[in-house]
Amino acid sequence: MPYDPNNIFARILRGEIPCNKVYEDEYALAFHDIAPQAPIHVLVIPKGEYVSFDDFSRTAPAEAMTGFYRAVQQAAESLGLQTDGYRALSNIGRHAHQEVAHYHLHLFAGCDLGSMIKKGLV
Ligand code: AMP
Repeated sequence: MPYDPNNIFARILRGEIPCNKVYEDEYALAFHDIAPQAPIHVLVIPKGEYVSFDDFSRTAPAEAMTGFYRAVQQAAESLGLQTDGYRALSNIGRHAHQEVAHYHLHLFAGCDLGSMIKKGLV
């Protein structure tokens, strides 16, 4: 799937749409999800044009990857998420119901998050 430069996260990166920012550096932007599914639900996105985790992992330069994952940690630390823990999750493609085709990591926190995945899939 080619990258669409008009996807909603690209527009947030360009400042065309506001976000509730948590953390930003040269590699990444972290902001609160508009429809939180946990008491704390943050999205972290790289500043480059990557469709998904799969695309990012395959094509991003090493510096962009290191910078992105350091930024994820910084965003989590800035919210104090390490104390009680958090979940990092990325949806990739149709079966995972990825809605926005710009790579993003969801950070969920603020309560006991339960088991990792809905039971009954196998
Ligand atoms: P995914 O299904 O993994 O692609 O997740 C996309 C996420 O983006 C969903 O959790 C949405 O609630 C969130 N989202 C969509 N638009 C916005 C927005 N303008 N600001 C913040 N979060 C958004």
